[in-house]
Amino acid sequence: MWWRRWLPACLAWGCAAALCGSRGLCPAPNASRPEPGQCPRRRAAELCAWALSSDSLLDPFPVDVIQENYVRNDVLENILDLDVSVKGSSDFLEFVSGAKVIFGSVPLAHRYGGHQFGSWAGQLGDGRAHLIGVYTNRHGERWELQLKGSGKTPYSRNGDGRALLRSSVREFLCSEAMHYLGIPTSRAASLIVSDDDVWRDQFYNGNIKKERGAIVLRLAKSWFRIGSLEILTHSGELDLLRRLLDFIIQEHFPSIAMNDSNRYLEFFSTVVSETANLIAMWMSVGFAHGVCNTDNFSLLSITIDYGPFGFMDSYDPNFVPNTSDDERKYKIGNQASVGLFNLSKLLQALKPLLDPRQNQLASQILEGYGEYYYSRFTELFKTKLGLLGENENDNFLIAFLLKIMEDTKADFTMTFRELSEITADQLKELSIPEEFRALQDLGKHKLFSEWVTMYLLRLNSNKGDSDTKRRTRMTTVNPRYILRNWMAESAVQKANLNDFSEVQLLEQVLQHPFQRQEAAERAGYSLHPPAWAKHLKVSCSS
Ligand code: AMP
Ligand code: MG
Repeated sequence: MWWRRWLPACLAWGCAAALCGSRGLCPAPNASRPEPGQCPRRRAAELCAWALSSDSLLDPFPVDVIQENYVRNDVLENILDLDVSVKGSSDFLEFVSGAKVIFGSVPLAHRYGGHQFGSWAGQLGDGRAHLIGVYTNRHGERWELQLKGSGKTPYSRNGDGRALLRSSVREFLCSEAMHYLGIPTSRAASLIVSDDDVWRDQFYNGNIKKERGAIVLRLAKSWFRIGSLEILTHSGELDLLRRLLDFIIQEHFPSIAMNDSNRYLEFFSTVVSETANLIAMWMSVGFAHGVCNTDNFSLLSITIDYGPFGFMDSYDPNFVPNTSDDERKYKIGNQASVGLFNLSKLLQALKPLLDPRQNQLASQILEGYGEYYYSRFTELFKTKLGLLGENENDNFLIAFLLKIMEDTKADFTMTFRELSEITADQLKELSIPEEFRALQDLGKHKLFSEWVTMYLLRLNSNKGDSDTKRRTRMTTVNPRYILRNWMAESAVQKANLNDFSEVQLLEQVLQHPFQRQEAAERAGYSLHPPAWAKHLKVSCSS
C-alpha cells in the first residue's frame, strides 16, 4: 500500500478555516469546532463546525514523499530509476533527443534481415533507431534503450532515418497500453518533438507532404528479432550465428543450460510456444500488429515495432489495420498462421546448427504450434467469458459468440466488457440495459437467446462460483478502454498543433484499462467510434 497525498497543502484543516473565515461564512475558530475525526455534538450548519480525518489510513501506511500531483511515468521511475523531475532538465532533453551521449554509451545500429509479406527482403537493419546502451536497474533487470527516429544509420537505405510525430505518438501510447493490458511488449519512456520537417507520401499516391518529426526513447529486454538470425544464415556467417544465439540464450533464457547440446532446440521450442502465446494474447484484445514480417517478430516474443497496428472495433476476422496491405496478408484472422510461417523461417535460420535428429525434433515442435496456439486461445477466451473448469463444448460456445458478433458487427471489446458487467438474471430475462450497446447489437441476432441459454447453463457448472465473483473476475480481464484508432488519431491531430492534452489523457486512462474512469467516459472512450472516424486510414508510412 502506498498512499499519495494529492491535495494542495492549503486544503489542510487550518487553511480551510482561514478560507471560510475570509468569506465571512464562519465564526472565528472557537471551541465548538470538533477535533478532526470526531463527531460534532449536533448537526453542523456550517462546514467549519465539521471535520474529517485521514489518520486511520495515513498512520499505518507509508506516505508518498512526492507532494505534487502529476501522472506517473512508470518507465522513467520504476525501470530507469529516474526521478520524474528529470524531465525538466536540459540534460534529459538533450539525451532523449539524441544530442547528448551519456557516459558509457556507444550508439549502435543493428544489422538484420527479414521476410516481408512472405518474401525474403535481404538486408534491412536499424534504419532509424539507435541502440544507445543497456541499463541495469535497481532490480537487476537489464534493459536495452533505443532512440527511434534519431537519424540515419548505415542501414537507412533510401530512408531519412526519421520518424513522424503521428507514428511516434501511436507507438508511445500503444506500447504502454499493451503493457497495462498485460501483453508482453517493448515500453516507451519519452517522446520528443523535433523542429525538423519530415517529408512523407502518406498514402503512396504522389502527394508528398511536410510533417512533424519526433523521437521516442523505447526500451526492451532485447531488440533481437527472427531477422537478426536469418541474415547470418543467408550470408553464411555461421560462426557469428552460433555466437549470437549463445549470447541470446545466456542473457535471456536462464532456464536453458549453456552446456546442453540441445540448447538450440530448447531455444526454438520456447520461442515457438511464447510466440503462440503472444499471438493468442493479441487476439484476446482484438489487436492486429499490421506488419508481421520476420524483422518485426521478437526472439523474446514481445510485441515490437508498432506501425500501422489497429485494435478492431466491430468483430471482423478480416480486419486489416494497414491500408498498404492490399492482399490482406496480415489481417487479424491470419496472425496465427503468419506466426507459424515466421517460426518456420526461424527454423530455417537455425538449421545449420542442428544435427539431423535435432532437425527432425524441431519440425515436430513446429507441428505442435497450431495445437498449442488453440489451447492458449481457448484458455484466454474462457477466462474472458468467466468459465471455470473444463467442458467439451467450450470451444463451440466461444466460436458461436464470435460468429454472432461477426454477423451483428457488435463491438468486440465492449461485448466482453458488458458481459462482465451484466448480471446473470438480466441475461436470463434478456433484459439488456440500453447503455449496453454492444449487447444490444448482439441481441438483434436470431440465435442470441440460444447462445445466452447455453452460456448461462455453462456458468451454472462453474464450481464454487457466484455471479458476483464471476463479474469481478471478468472485469479484471476484459478492458473497458483500448487504444482505438480514432482515439489515437484525435490525440495525434491535437499533438500536431502542440496540444498534448489528449496524449496525456490517453496515457493516464490506458494505465488502468480495466477500471471505469469518468474522464474516459466523458471523452467517449468506451463508445463505438464516432462517425468521422469511419474512413480513417493508417498506412505503412511513418
Ligand atoms: P518497419 O516497417 O518500420 O519495421 O521498417 C522496415 C525497415 O525499414 C527497417 O529496417 C527500418 O529501419 C527501415 N526504415 C523504415 N523507415 C525508415 C526511415 N524513415 N529511414 C530509414 N530506415 C527506415
Ligand atoms: Mg521494423
